[in-house]
Amino acid sequence: MKLILFDLDDTLFDFSSTWNVVMKKMFAEHEVTKEYDNEVFFTAFQKKSDELYYLYEQRICTVEAYRNRRLIETLADHQYTMSEDEADAFNLQYIQQYANSLAPDSHVLELLMKLKERYKLGIITNGPHDMQEGKIMRLGLKELFPPEQVWISNVVGIAKPDPRIYQLALDYFNVLPEDTLFVGDNWEADVAGPLQIGMKAVWLNKYGKTAPASDKKPLAIVSQLHELIPYLN
Ligand SMILES: [Mg+2]
Repeated sequence: MKLILFDLDDTLFDFSSTWNVVMKKMFAEHEVTKEYDNEVFFTAFQKKSDELYYLYEQRICTVEAYRNRRLIETLADHQYTMSEDEADAFNLQYIQQYANSLAPDSHVLELLMKLKERYKLGIITNGPHDMQEGKIMRLGLKELFPPEQVWISNVVGIAKPDPRIYQLALDYFNVLPEDTLFVGDNWEADVAGPLQIGMKAVWLNKYGKTAPASDKKPLAIVSQLHELIPYLN
């Protein structure tokens, strides 16, 4: 093994719990959304966010338009008409609060520094560049992953599991797929996609999800990032 590629969200940091905390706090404090039951409103918003994600994923609209729309539509279901300007203001604040809530995780950094002694390291992430770049900085990962070793779907115009995005990393590092390990929490993007082009993969399954039926098998399924060490060679 020569190269280890990582997913970012929910792999190198806990995206979901950060999102839950930040969003609930935003809704509890915002002059409009504070009027609603926090848990109920958050659940409705999360559902809307998932429902509308295809708009951004398929590039039907920008990430800013997607963020506004999920908020405006959730509020419309709660009998409030929010303007685009109000939604812009809310989402600007969301991005700031999200970034401010991120901090380096010493366990993750320690592991990565150890791996860096033996392997080339990269990140391939699906997501908007305005957040992914900020996250990498706030999480203290910038030293370990300089910008040219980070592939962000929205920047390169290709998203996992499209094989071309993994190929960008292989070409950059000049490494064969069989000498590469992909590590991540999303089965399709981080396991099935990499296996398809001949990489090895470790599935980070923190929440005990059932592995989808597949003829391809990851090298390992782990519940914590550091558990991947015994599988390296
Ligand atoms: Mg992920």
